[in-house]
Amino acid sequence: MDNKELISIVIPCYNEEESIDIYYEAMEKVRQNLAAEDAEIEYIFVNDGSKDKTLTILRKLAKKDSERVRYISFSRNFGKEAALYAGLENAKGDFVTVMDADLQDPPELLIEMLKTIREEDYDCVGTRRVSRDGEPPIRSFFARQFYRIINRISDTEIVDGARDYRLMTRQMVDAILELKEYNRFSKGIFSWVGFKTKYLEYKNIERVAGETTWSFWGLMKYSIDGIVAFSEAPLAFASIVGLLSFILAIIMVFVIAIRTLIFDDPTSGWTSLVCIVLGLGGLQLFCLGIVGKYLGKTYLETKRRPIYLVKETEKDLTA
Ligand code: UDP
Ligand code: MG
Repeated sequence: MDNKELISIVIPCYNEEESIDIYYEAMEKVRQNLAAEDAEIEYIFVNDGSKDKTLTILRKLAKKDSERVRYISFSRNFGKEAALYAGLENAKGDFVTVMDADLQDPPELLIEMLKTIREEDYDCVGTRRVSRDGEPPIRSFFARQFYRIINRISDTEIVDGARDYRLMTRQMVDAILELKEYNRFSKGIFSWVGFKTKYLEYKNIERVAGETTWSFWGLMKYSIDGIVAFSEAPLAFASIVGLLSFILAIIMVFVIAIRTLIFDDPTSGWTSLVCIVLGLGGLQLFCLGIVGKYLGKTYLETKRRPIYLVKETEKDLTA
C-alpha cells in the first residue's frame, strides 16, 4: 500500500440526497480498476449547506467506509467555488480530482486521466464537453457567446466547454490554493495558474437524479462575475465611451456654432437635445455601474472574510 499513489476526489454536494449513493456505487466500481493501476482513493464530500438529507447520507457513508470517505459540512450554502476550495485545501492526495455528485462527470474517465498524467508530461488532465445535448438551446447560445467574449477580453484563456472535472498534480493544487481570493471563478483560476493541461473530450451527459441549481439568471450573474474577475476590459470600455462622446460633443459645438453663424438658426433642436441628454445620462449611469461592479468586488475582497465556514466533519462522528 505504501508505494501506491493517493487520489483525492473532491465532490461538492448541494441538495444531492438522491445522487450521492448512486455516485458512490459508480465510483467504487472504478476504484477496483484504479487499484489495478496502483492508485488508492479518498473521497472528500463537501456538503455546501444542503437543505435536504445530504448530510445524513454523508454521515452514514463515512461510518460505512471510514477508511476512505471524509466529509466537510459547511455552516450554510457558500457556493460551489467555496466547496471546491475547501475540498482542495483538505485533500491529502498526490493527485486531486474534482467531480460533480450527479455523475455528469463520468468516473470511468479517471483511469484514462491517471494514465495520461503519469505517462505523458502533463500537470493536469481536464475534460471538455464537445456537445451540449440535453441543454436548452438558448442556454447553449449564451454559453457560447460568453466564451467568445471572455476570451477576447481576458488574457486568461477560458476553454469552451471545459468542465471543472480534472485530475491535477499536487504541485498544481498547491498553486491553486495560493490564490486566496474571495470571489473565486475556478474556470479562470485553473487556467491562470498555468501548468500543462490536456483536455479529454466527451459528450454531455445528463444528471442521474436531482436538479441543476443553475437558473438562467444565476448563470448570467456567474458569467459577469467571471468577466469582472478576469478582465479589466469593461473599465477600459467605460473610458473609451466617455472619450468618444466627448470628442463627438466638441465636433457638435463647432458644427452648431458654424451653422448658427451661417444660417442664423439658434432655437430649433429641442427633440435632439432631449435625446442627447437622456442618451448621455444613460451611458454615464451604465459606466458608473461597471465601475461600481469592480468597486463592489474590491470591497468584498478587502474584508478578507473566510471563503467558507465548517460546521462538521467526519472527525465529529462518534462511533
Ligand atoms: N453545488 C454546490 N453548491 C452550490 C451549487 C452546486 O456544491 O451552491 C454542487 C452540486 O451539488 C454539484 C455541482 O456543484 O455536485 C454542480 O452543480 P450542478 O449539477 O447543479 O451544475 P451543472 O452540472 O448543471 O453545471
Ligand atoms: Mg451537474
